[in-house]
Amino acid sequence: MKRRGPLVCRWCGEEFLATPGPGRPKQYCRASHRQRAYEARRLGESRQLLPDEVIVSRRAWDALRDALYRLESAAEDVAIDLETGAPTKTDYVNALAHLSEAVRQLQDVSVEPVALGST
Ligand SMILES: [Zn+2]
Repeated sequence: MKRRGPLVCRWCGEEFLATPGPGRPKQYCRASHRQRAYEARRLGESRQLLPDEVIVSRRAWDALRDALYRLESAAEDVAIDLETGAPTKTDYVNALAHLSEAVRQLQDVSVEPVALGST
């Protein structure tokens, strides 16, 4: 049975359209992502990573951790702001803007594995 709808790239997680034709369905949105996944798996094998282990760079790890901390802090700020008193429409708008900014910062973080454990 043919799979319908967009596929999800196993490297970047972006959706892409399957190209019709013979052969196995593509697993990557572009050749460079297939290559990077291959290299990450090879490095994972050389480091004897377990299937659920991933190595990311210190820079990516720090950026992700910082962005998650900012999002968590924004969520706590909003919860406190909206729990006290009778929040107005302006309070909700400000809370949403605060949360949206923290989410945007998280979306800007790019975390690509350096090495992947083989599954
Ligand atoms: Zn991709």
